[in-house]
Amino acid sequence: MEQERIAICYQCNSQGKEIPLISTFAFRGSEVYCPECKNAFGIFNTKVIDSTPELQKQLKKSTKANKEYLDARSSLACQRIKIKGEWVETSTLGKEWRDNKIAIVKKYEPEL
Ligand SMILES: [Zn+2]
Repeated sequence: MEQERIAICYQCNSQGKEIPLISTFAFRGSEVYCPECKNAFGIFNTKVIDSTPELQKQLKKSTKANKEYLDARSSLACQRIKIKGEWVETSTLGKEWRDNKIAIVKKYEPEL
């Protein structure tokens, strides 16, 4: 069986921590998010290591814990999103919708 690989945070790894990165499904340059140091990175700024069941478990847990952020992040990056089963163009949702999503993202990415 092929060894599964997992992307971890460079920044946190330099301090001896192995933090699996969450996929944001966002635009280029911030495809992944570190729940520890709260930075979004491009996929090329990550360190890829052999995965372990512990790291997979950690990733699953942090993805769940950061759901609000991931929803906001990805809907800002999308042209269309699904609201109550209907596809809606995000450009028609207005400034308030956008500002609200940006406020959520800023909570998780304080440096933004
Ligand atoms: Zn980090």
